[in-house]
Parts: sequence; C-alpha cells; structure tokens
Amino acid sequence: MSDPLFERDTADAALDLVVRAAGPYLASLPDRLVHDGEQDALIDELDLPLPERGDGTLAGVERLLRVGTRASTHSAGPRFFHFVVGGATPAALAGDWTTSLLDQAAGLWTSSPLAARTETIVLRWLKDLFGLPESFGGVLTPSATFAHVTSLACARTWWAERHGVDVAAQGLAGLPQMPVLSSGLVHVSTRKALQILGCGRDNLRTFSRDDAGRADLDAMEEALAALDGAPAVLVGNVGDVNAGDSDPIADMADLAERHGAWLHIDGAFGLFAALSPRTAHMTRGVERADSVTADGHKWLNVPYESGFAFVRDPSLMPRAFGAWGADYLTDQTGEGLDYNTIGPESSRRSRAFPIWATLYAYGRDGHRAMVERHLDLALHLGGLVEKAPDLELLAPVQLPIVCFRYRPPGVPESELDDLNARLGEALLADGRVYAGTSTYRGMTVFRPALVNWRSTDPDVELLVEVLRELGPTIK
Ligand SMILES: *Cc1c(COP(=O)(O)O)cnc(C)c1O
Repeated sequence: MSDPLFERDTADAALDLVVRAAGPYLASLPDRLVHDGEQDALIDELDLPLPERGDGTLAGVERLLRVGTRASTHSAGPRFFHFVVGGATPAALAGDWTTSLLDQAAGLWTSSPLAARTETIVLRWLKDLFGLPESFGGVLTPSATFAHVTSLACARTWWAERHGVDVAAQGLAGLPQMPVLSSGLVHVSTRKALQILGCGRDNLRTFSRDDAGRADLDAMEEALAALDGAPAVLVGNVGDVNAGDSDPIADMADLAERHGAWLHIDGAFGLFAALSPRTAHMTRGVERADSVTADGHKWLNVPYESGFAFVRDPSLMPRAFGAWGADYLTDQTGEGLDYNTIGPESSRRSRAFPIWATLYAYGRDGHRAMVERHLDLALHLGGLVEKAPDLELLAPVQLPIVCFRYRPPGVPESELDDLNARLGEALLADGRVYAGTSTYRGMTVFRPALVNWRSTDPDVELLVEVLRELGPTIK
C-alpha cells in the first residue's frame, strides 16, 4: 500500500527528480525538434488501468518525467510559432513552481492573505504597465477567454440594469438580446464568452470595410444610432491573430461615448504593444474602455494558465459574480478582498506568483526589451519573406505576427490554398520549426507569432529555410 501519509518524506526526493530533469530539458530546447511524432508512442506508458496498488511517489514522478520530457510538444522552446504561444521566463517558471509548493487557496482573503494581496499588487503593476487607470478593478483568470467572460458578464450586468433587471439574480428571461458590435478582427473567444453568458455567439454583429476585417466605423455608428439610445456593447480588438491588425481604439471610445455604449477591448497579446514607444499608438484609447482583457501566457511569458480582466467600474464585479447578494465588498484595494466574489471561479490557484516573479525580475525595461526584440524578429522575418522569390508577404508587419504564403512562380492562384495547406501539414510533420496556417482574406496563409522570450534570428531564419526546402517536395 502507498498511503501518501507513509510517503511524506519522499517529497524532497520527488522534487529533486524534477529539478534534475529541468536543467537538461531546458538546455536541450534550442536543439530539439519542436515535436517529435515518434515519441508519441511513449504516452502508452501513462495509459494504464487505474492502479489498485500505487507504485509510490518516486516511481510515478520518474515515469511522468521520462514520458513528459520526450513526448511533450516543446513549445517552451524558441521555434514554436503556431497559434500565439508564449514561453515561461526563468523567473515566471520558478514563480509557478512556488505556486504549487505553497498551494494557496486564492479565492478568499481568509484562506490566504498572501495570495490575495499579491494578486492586488500584480494587478496594480499590470495596470501601470499598460497605462490603465489605477482605479480600474481587476482579477486574474485562467485565460483571455475567461477574462472575456468576466468582462462581458460585467457588461451584461450593466446592460440589464439599464433595462431595470438584476441579471445575476433573475437571469436573462424577458430581456431583449444584448446588442454586441465589433469589427471583422474579432476573435472567436469573444463569441465563445457571449455563448457562455447566454447572449448568443451569433448575436455579435461585425462591421468591416474590407476583406481583412478592418472596422467600418461609419456603419457601426449607424447601427448604434438605430438602437435609439438602447444600451449596447462595442468590442475593440488590439492585435488580431492573422496579421496583428488592430481597431482604432480611440475612435471607438469616441463612438461608445457618443452613444452611451460599453467599450470592451480584447488585447490578448496586443495589449503588450503599450510597452514600446514603437507600437504604443495601437493601444491609445484603451484607458477609456469599460473593460479590457489580456493574457499572461502569451506575450508576458508566464506559464499556462494566466489571463487578466480589468473593469472600469469595480462595483460591477461583485454584482456580476458575488453569490451572496447584499454585502458587496467594493473596495478593491483594502484588506479582506475575496477574489472569488469578483470573478467567475470559486476555488482557484494563486496565479499572481509567476506574474509577480517575472515583473520583479525583469521590470518594465526587461519586458519592453523582449517586446521590442519580438518586433525586430517579425520585421526580420518579414524582410526574408519579401526577398524570397517563392514567398509572398500579405500584410505589413505591425506586431510580432507575419502573414505570408508560399507562392512559387508558375503555380496558378486556384492551387495555392491547397498547396499552402499541405505545406503547413508537412512543416508540422517535419518538426524542426512550428507554424500553422489560417485563412486571411480568403487565402490559406502562414501567420507565425513570435512571442517566446527564447526566440532569436536563427529561429525565424530556419522557418524560411525549412518552408523553402519542403515547398518543392509537395506533390
Ligand atoms: C489567444 C487569444 C484569445 C484567447 O485567449 P485564451 O488565453 O486562449 O483564452 C483572444 N483574443 C486574441 C486576440 C487572442 O490572440
């Protein structure tokens, strides 16, 4: 029998196994395949019937590490450019281990003043980093999707109150549909949040002036005017996932102001543009929004899961999420704040520690340097694409996303989507460098996102080399 009580002295040795695996694993990241499909068979070693008799602490940890360090997708390394996936800075990684070591129940002040106060501290630091007013409320979430849920639940509370309904207590029945307007840059996660909140994923209307999805503000204004003073929600996007494009946030703030609408901003990774004078203009106006969401596990380079929601009127947060009715605690700076009354979770881990660790370790300067290195990397990659006779850059490089496709001379337009889709599959199967395909202006394209702190020039150069090597082999 392996009752954990009898194994209490094994924790040291088990953690030591992790530490001893960590050094060589991290050191191997620059040289190994991003994903080695041949190692996937090792996952069978985890796929056992539920053990009736445990095998003990060390055997379990040893097995998990042996399989994990080989079969994982090595997205912590410098050449995973698929989706928008950050790495973990050394301080953030160690801060995250500290989270597990201390195992704080971070929902209630009483269960951990340390977790609650550290959350307040990092939210203050993040507001400072992004240029948001300190008076905004905030909460850490598992992701930007959950931060949308948090923000849009507050928007929904505000909107229903305008209709005389306490939606937290009474629900949506009897209310009209909540009008939600955005540009074609809107991310699917915003629709997902609306779907979760009962506001309907297809209820979101987009207003675009071109096939890249850029905002048509005149059409948006017309639609708002047609509502005749009924409250509505506008969603502005900083940094879209295809081309790193952004909505004109200050203009949208003007629109929201003129029509009394709620302005929500999705800055999942793009909000970090605020850190560099080269890109800060893209975030101008976010300080006028009613709610703002971003991710920690992307451009901040904190391990999964990490997101944040900020809300202009902090008193809406307990109205949307407090389950206990009357006694709302609206002072978000004072002692005693229970974070599980102002966000969607009840029990939750302390997501503040890795954020605190990385911001303390590298400061505003270090994170700005990382952001600017990624901007330079994207420009470098964009330049390589432009120079290559068989690659075609499809959008100007604005943020650390480069949108392009493979276009060898002589291949007709009608065959390019299929060719790029198959090249995308070949790239992932090759494994040296990862980037995915997407659809941009009706075309199948590559749109690598360069937000890992470890990435440097040779990593993006390899992407171009591998694509141009594999391209001619696609039949
Ligand atoms: C990644 C992303 C999201 C969703 O973030 P998750 O952390 O995956 O929930 C939303 N919007 C944009 C622009 C994103 O890039």
